[in-house]
Amino acid sequence: MDQYWPGGGSVDLDIPVIKLALGTLSGPLSVRTPITAFAIRHPSGTVLVDTGIGTPAPSFAARYPTKARSVTDALAEHGIAASDIICIVNSHLHTDHCGENSTFDVPAVIQRAELERARIETPDLSDRFDFPGAKHMLINGDTELLSGVDVLHTPGHTIGHQSVLVRGRRTVLVGGDAAYTADIFGRGAAAFRPGVRELQIHTNEKMWNATLDRLRGYARYVDEVYFAHDGALI
Ligand SMILES: [Zn+2]
Repeated sequence: MDQYWPGGGSVDLDIPVIKLALGTLSGPLSVRTPITAFAIRHPSGTVLVDTGIGTPAPSFAARYPTKARSVTDALAEHGIAASDIICIVNSHLHTDHCGENSTFDVPAVIQRAELERARIETPDLSDRFDFPGAKHMLINGDTELLSGVDVLHTPGHTIGHQSVLVRGRRTVLVGGDAAYTADIFGRGAAAFRPGVRELQIHTNEKMWNATLDRLRGYARYVDEVYFAHDGALI
């Protein structure tokens, strides 16, 4: 089992992972998909994986009708205050994952390659991740963030996509958009319906497949696997 954990075995800590339902968006092909984030309740403080879409940019909302609520409201439902958050981990910098970064005065852990990509590809959305005062904690590759919390570089959806592996008494893999759903995770491209290419699950198919293979290796040993847009989740 150890070979699958970048930081060694599990740690003897309770590290609950809380799912946050932040709304839905109607994506390409009118597929309605949930928007989620995750709060990792580490004894050192709470790590927020993604911040949802917040108030979508008009250009985005025109293409993808969105019903969303604030991540702080979702956190409050679980008794978590914004001041409890010690850092954000953005799975990637698409707008439905970093929309409310500016709400929190904490560092956002981002792969350096992802920030570079987002700055080039989506300068129109830079107020979501490059707002005045933004604190970026840039990393390159896999990084142990806290005891029992590893950030894994899982490219393919985007070049700097990352997932989070929680190795407490319960083990949880927060997959982000490595796959949108458990079905895609299990079956890869075979889960796609005709035309689903538009859903842009990968920007680099070879990397995406390698990432799925890697995460499937982890998934065999964890108690839970979550993805950001799985309708079965919430
Ligand atoms: Zn997404």
